[in-house]
Amino acid sequence: MSFKSLGLSEPLLKAISKKGYETPSPIQAKAIPPVLEGKDVLASAQTGTGKTAGFTLPMLHLLSKNPIQKHRPIRALVLTPTRELAAQVHANVKEYSEFLNIRSTVIFGGVNQKPQVARIRQGIDILVATPGRLIDLESQGVLSLKRVEIFVLDEADRMLDMGFLRDIERVMKLIPNKRQNLMFSATFSKDIKKLAYSILDNPVHVEATPENTAVEIIDQKVHRVAKGKKTGLIIKLISEGNWKQVLVFTRTKHGANRLTKKMISAGITAAAIHGNKSQGARTKALAGFKRGTVRVLVATDIAARGLDIPLLPHVINFEIPNISEDYVHRIGRTGRAGASGQAISLVSADEISYLRGIEKLIGMKIDVEIIEGFEPDPNASTEPIKPGQNRNRGRGGQRNKTSNSRNSGGGNKNANHNRNKNRNRRRNNENRN
Ligand code: ADP
Ligand code: MG
Repeated sequence: MSFKSLGLSEPLLKAISKKGYETPSPIQAKAIPPVLEGKDVLASAQTGTGKTAGFTLPMLHLLSKNPIQKHRPIRALVLTPTRELAAQVHANVKEYSEFLNIRSTVIFGGVNQKPQVARIRQGIDILVATPGRLIDLESQGVLSLKRVEIFVLDEADRMLDMGFLRDIERVMKLIPNKRQNLMFSATFSKDIKKLAYSILDNPVHVEATPENTAVEIIDQKVHRVAKGKKTGLIIKLISEGNWKQVLVFTRTKHGANRLTKKMISAGITAAAIHGNKSQGARTKALAGFKRGTVRVLVATDIAARGLDIPLLPHVINFEIPNISEDYVHRIGRTGRAGASGQAISLVSADEISYLRGIEKLIGMKIDVEIIEGFEPDPNASTEPIKPGQNRNRGRGGQRNKTSNSRNSGGGNKNANHNRNKNRNRRRNNENRN
């Protein structure tokens, strides 16, 4: 199987080989042909399997086949849940369109809208956007979506988790009825099916590698440890292992900040990435981490979701998530695109019930190792940490308020779903993007 045999045009093949890809990933091989045929496609494959190129390449192929229109109306719209993902998808669009006469831009909140508006006014073919800023600029009359031919919902499961259902529905009203729809998701749940049913027209559903395959190739370990000794242990692991690029997950933003400070005091370069950080600070932290000047990136789930950091060798759960699926997403940051990685979880007594839930989900027991000097506290309570016990509760971001916390008002289809309710509550607590 080659990219050429999928029917992609020469300028795209050139960009692909410049990027260094030799063969299409399984989800790309499955998704690209039906997209090229103009069909609606629902594609699900775990994080890190190359879904971005799965929609970007055929989208560029289709757009470049049609003649450029004089005023360059927006012909393709890609919605993503977070700013970082929007930026990443757009970076991909730019790379793959290098040898095509296609213009694109990206818009997201948290930064000045002026440069975004100026770029849109010049005329662009492809717009990558987060829902909030998109709706905002549309209602200001800065952009029109009336000529959209291809609509892409990327990371659709994240969109739902983050309470963007209403915003998606609003966007659907702004684009023409006759269009090609593509929906990409890491998971394929009942809610995703429901959303797909409401957006897609007679879709082709393609899937690649069940979620557990990744889980199996990642070297996973649990260190049972007393809660108060976690910081000491993580510093020991990173320094003694001489680990150079480590992604650490914490439960809260405060926790991320605290841990980052302690790492820095211990002489380990670290940066925190979470929703209370300015866009500039986040971009800087991520760039430093990718370059290698920042050894440890400490992140909350939402901030880290979908970040494309190739070949990440180590992921540490400073606290394990209380939503089992999040564990799979977290460790999906390691061993991307075939390379193997290591995922370590520091588990205190109050997290044991969450650990059992994770083991049930992934269908395997994770090896436990106790490190001398960092033993678990035999007297600690095994009462689970309640999601609501975070300090920064209730200071959710804007998007948060418009969707999640108004669930009780009805209308949000997710609200009926218990698991989602919990999840949303947790999202609120975490106080995300
Ligand atoms: P997903 O959206 O499924 O999480 P991404 O699109 O972010 O995954 O891709 C994950 C990583 O795999 C990126 O670093 C990307 O450059 C790389 N990648 C994508 N397609 C290929 C391919 N065909 N060959 C090699 N690497 C690829
Ligand atoms: Mg993706």
